[in-house]
Formats: sequence, structure tokens, C-alpha cells
Amino acid sequence: MNTSFLDKIRRDYPDLKFVTGRKFAFRPPKTVVVGPEEPDDSLLLLHELGHAILEHREFGTNVMRLKMERAAWEKARELANAYGVIFDDDKVERELDTYREWLDKKSRCPKCGLTRYETPDGEYHCPKCENL
Ligand SMILES: [Zn+2]
Ligand SMILES: [Zn+2]
Repeated sequence: MNTSFLDKIRRDYPDLKFVTGRKFAFRPPKTVVVGPEEPDDSLLLLHELGHAILEHREFGTNVMRLKMERAAWEKARELANAYGVIFDDDKVERELDTYREWLDKKSRCPKCGLTRYETPDGEYHCPKCENL
């Protein structure tokens, strides 16, 4: 991570806490975990900052979570423009794809393989198996 970039972000967001960790993450309400150095680390930092600015809290349903991920990337795009960081659309699509795959896997019924639906409590229900 470019330390002068991180310092600038810290100065611009004095009410947020930045700590180092094993991977980039946002811990509600105010902590951004700064992961190890990698080619796109500035972008990853802006993404987590996006979650913080949008005041994302607990992820309710998984579908909700995917929406939040997308929103945080949209915020990161604005921030990247403001800070002169190159925004890599392909990288973002790849990141979102891993979420989509994860969501897809999670929503599949382990018994019959059908796509289940999620209720607001985050529970999955199979339209086939649960109505037998
Ligand atoms: Zn995220
Ligand atoms: Zn089923």
C-alpha cells in the first residue's frame, strides 16, 4: 500500500479507524481493515471505504449483501475519480462474480439441486423439498 495515499485517506476521513489485517475488509461501524500490498490495493481500500461512507451495517440477506457489494464498488468508482486512482472494471466484475458464484452455490438446495429462495431472515427454502 502506497503510504502517502493511505495517509491522505486517513486525513480525509478522520472519524474512521484504519487498522492493518490479513485482508481488506470493513468492520461496521467505523473500522477499515487494510490488507497486504497487492497491485490493486488502492482500489480495494476505496471499496472498503465505500462501505464505510455508505454506512453499511449487518448484511441481512445474501441478496442484500450482493447489492451492498455493488453499491460499495460504485462508491469506489467515484472515489477513484476524485483521488486519481485507475478504476479497473474487469477487476470489479471479477470480484462481483465471486460473490455471485458464492450466492448461487449457497442458494442451491443440497437435496434436489433446485434454486431455493431466501426469506428476509436470511434462511433458504426449497420450493420442492419443503412442500412435500
Ligand atoms: Zn465489499
Ligand atoms: Zn430441494
